[in-house]
Amino acid sequence: MLKLQHIDVFYGRFQALKNVSMEIEQGELVTILGANGAGKSTLFHTLSGLNKVSSGDILFEDRKIHNMAPYKLVRAGIVQCAEGRKLFSEMSVFENLKMGSYTRRSDKKAVQKQLDDIYALFPILFEKRKDAAGSLSGGQQQMLAIGRALMAKPKILMLDEPSLGLAPLIVDQMFKVIQEIHKHGTTVLLAEQNAHAALSISTRGYVMENGQIVMQGTKKELFDNDEVKRAYIGA
Ligand code: ATP
Repeated sequence: MLKLQHIDVFYGRFQALKNVSMEIEQGELVTILGANGAGKSTLFHTLSGLNKVSSGDILFEDRKIHNMAPYKLVRAGIVQCAEGRKLFSEMSVFENLKMGSYTRRSDKKAVQKQLDDIYALFPILFEKRKDAAGSLSGGQQQMLAIGRALMAKPKILMLDEPSLGLAPLIVDQMFKVIQEIHKHGTTVLLAEQNAHAALSISTRGYVMENGQIVMQGTKKELFDNDEVKRAYIGA
């Protein structure tokens, strides 16, 4: 479904992605593990069209997509839920969700159906639909950020550190929701520092260090790997 071939990305003279190749099949839930600064957000921004690729190819459903405009990538089905939520805090929950469907405005019936599905997945968002996004708790804001991304009807949903800064109980809920979204047919690419929880719900994973993929494997292979255990999972 999504194929990256030897991708290089620079910020000025600093090379943030080095020869990154990966492949995501439809229906997978793939986790990218990596410490702060490893390049996970850079990878997601690149797939969203926010970073320019200096060499290599990105193919989505067999079409070359690197350096395509971000809104076209959203229309094609590649949607990111960015680290730090980036909500419109003065706008209501409903208005934030509506913004997520901006690229699908002409498809009113489908958008309404998507909104109903999101309210079913996150009943709290329905309850709070008229409240300002900024008044929600951290966990509710993260649910809203994911709900807004779902409004674009992603074929592949990229979630950047969805559990960041949330209380442990809410983190568990968050991972359950991600699993639910995946079960309903959305392919998911997840960047997480919470390696154990993320790998537990994944089919496969990649490990990034200093802008490079240094390891890849199935959930079991990564769980059994001593280096992964030591660096990312702990005892
Ligand atoms: P985090 O979880 O902390 O965001 P990350 O794995 O997502 O970590 P990136 O944010 O992709 O890492 O950063 C990769 C490298 O690129 C880091 O060394 C970072 O300092 C650098 N970097 C990120 N954004 C920029 C930018 N806009 N300009 C210059 N360097 C950047």
